Amino acid sequence: MARLSKPQLLSLVTVAINEAGWRFLYLSDAHPFELQIYSDVETYRVRAYIWNITHGGGSQRPANEYRIQITGVEQFVWLDEGKTLILGWSDDFHVFAAWDFNYHDSTLGSSPSLQIHQSTLESAYTDGFAVHEKGNQELAIAFRPAFLVDYIRSLESLHAFGQYQSDLNLLGAVAHDPYAPNDAEIAITDIQRQTTIRSVRQSLRSSNFRARVLSAYDHKCAFCGVQLNLVQAAHILPVSHEAGTDETFNGIASCYLHHAAYDRALITFDETYHIHVNETQIAELMNLNRGGGADQFREALHQIIALPADKALRPHVGYIEIANDLRGWGL
Ligand SMILES: [Zn+2]
Repeated sequence: MARLSKPQLLSLVTVAINEAGWRFLYLSDAHPFELQIYSDVETYRVRAYIWNITHGGGSQRPANEYRIQITGVEQFVWLDEGKTLILGWSDDFHVFAAWDFNYHDSTLGSSPSLQIHQSTLESAYTDGFAVHEKGNQELAIAFRPAFLVDYIRSLESLHAFGQYQSDLNLLGAVAHDPYAPNDAEIAITDIQRQTTIRSVRQSLRSSNFRARVLSAYDHKCAFCGVQLNLVQAAHILPVSHEAGTDETFNGIASCYLHHAAYDRALITFDETYHIHVNETQIAELMNLNRGGGADQFREALHQIIALPADKALRPHVGYIEIANDLRGWGL
């Protein structure tokens, strides 16, 4: 598999940040990279060391061992009041791996490398997230790009699971199937680790939903057809509603503009998938001198939403009806 250059590795990091709905600023594009990443409510300064993950190679190394070979760095330097990431990228499995700074804070020896098992990379590829306890309580973590921001937010708590075997087993079970362990099973006594398990579960559920919906719609907005990586997975019936679920047929791919318009009941679609514009709302906005762009807005819309080829993945009629009622449409 290809070995990526440092700019290519940086690009993988920044794309993952954007795909999670976060933004970033470059503070240093020399390695180690430094970024300010932010959402509407949170921000972190991040220092990222990153290398390609390669097979251990040679007959002296275990056959299932993958590793990063540390080059150009004599010692990892902690970023005060920020997050320090030690990352690898596996182009074989399309996952990141991350090691715990606390176990690698002294001067590195000659030809230093950090290891992770092939099985952990494979599990991260299939499940989205996987952990590997290295025998000394150090936890190496592997995950798909969709989990990178969640990893950055909780990395201290995540790596600390290496010291608590039963909680680590539970984290592994949630990673393997985020729909399996129920609320009672994850109600462990340590509140911080419980919170971390809940957020891993939520993250895996939503990234799973997002991946399924975007794939079903070919990464195109169902309302207007735009791609350009500006497309999100919107819930038809919100998950905050008791009947809302993460099934693909409760989702629709939508660009940012039409997602907001759908959630605000400026547009919708009915049980025959025809799109409707809320002309009452537009007239009210016109009266407030806020109706600019209404004609272009109408013109950009399809007559009927674009639908997945697989009928089982199309929006469920029952969900469409309830959602339209809840959003005040008298269709
Ligand atoms: Zn759109």
